[in-house]
Amino acid sequence: MTAPAPVYNRIALIGLGLIASSMYWAIRRGGLAGEVTGYARSEETRDTARRIGLTDRVCESAAEAVEGADLVVLAVPVGAMASVTAEIAPHLAKGTTVTDVGSVKRDVINNVGPLLPEGVQFIPGHPLAGTEHSGPESGFATLFDNRWCLLVPVEGTDPAATAQLRALWEGMGANVEEMDADHHDLVLAVTSHTPHLIAYTMVGVADDLGRVTDGEVIKYSAAGFRDFTRIAASDPTMWRDVFLTNKDATLEILGRFTEELFALQRAIRTGDGDHLFDYFTRTRAIRRGIIDAGQDTDAPDFGRSARKETT
Ligand code: NAP
Repeated sequence: MTAPAPVYNRIALIGLGLIASSMYWAIRRGGLAGEVTGYARSEETRDTARRIGLTDRVCESAAEAVEGADLVVLAVPVGAMASVTAEIAPHLAKGTTVTDVGSVKRDVINNVGPLLPEGVQFIPGHPLAGTEHSGPESGFATLFDNRWCLLVPVEGTDPAATAQLRALWEGMGANVEEMDADHHDLVLAVTSHTPHLIAYTMVGVADDLGRVTDGEVIKYSAAGFRDFTRIAASDPTMWRDVFLTNKDATLEILGRFTEELFALQRAIRTGDGDHLFDYFTRTRAIRRGIIDAGQDTDAPDFGRSARKETT
């Protein structure tokens, strides 16, 4: 059997953390690129990348990494996308596709788009896959398998360039859909951003209480709390940037969340068991839907012993 043809000749990964390193291993698994270059801001990360063989060539500058690339992937925190783009823009050849993997899309479009030179195809993206780990050694080839990757082509994008990027993500195991940027940011505020904020808050509350009760909260942490701590261990820089750049949608969902929480608080205070029961019955059905859609496991304890955790 002959090997499949690569989707791109040369891919440049800018930022070498969880997402970029997982992309590299998945690209290599699928034979999806002729060459992959990589660049990370710190010497420490570049050294680690060289030591573990992450990318075919680790470069000393972002400009060097993008030279001759037909796809450039921005895989840095959302707040760093614009400064990295300003650095590489003069080195991008006509016809190059630039994409990103940031968790927020409107902000990236507004801040990165205007910096790109004429003739470059800009196709923002967001793989809905991750873990609470970060850095060059945290990636693995199967991260995107059967997970969604949302592409947000901007006006004027060549459909052929979008199709090529779609082929790359599908080659890495993902299911691809196109979505409008504002819709993306609202959906993600519901499914990812606000839940992370709630987890951060709950762990903070428990930590305060833990001090009061001499560590009992940590010692006896039950499954619910443990799941919160896993989510709340996610990278502080990444999540700071998510909330600063998806402000409106997050505040909208947080407002609704607070209203619901008050209603449940009232039901507990007034002993309204029917309200609580009906609410919990409705939410249980949503969990069933996620499992039926193949987006999580039905195994007890979320199948912890059998797989890597994903957010
Ligand atoms: P990560 O593991 O923390 O890696 C971030 C990379 O960006 C590192 O190589 C870091 O370089 C570089 N970087 C950080 N700040 C920079 C700056 N100011 N200028 C230049 N480079 C900088 O992050 P990640 O989890 O891969 O996330 C990358 C992107 O993917 C983010 O935009 C995030 O929103 C998005 N995303 C994350 C997840 C997730 O679950 N983690 C899921 C989907 C999408 P050094 O190592 O040298 O500091």
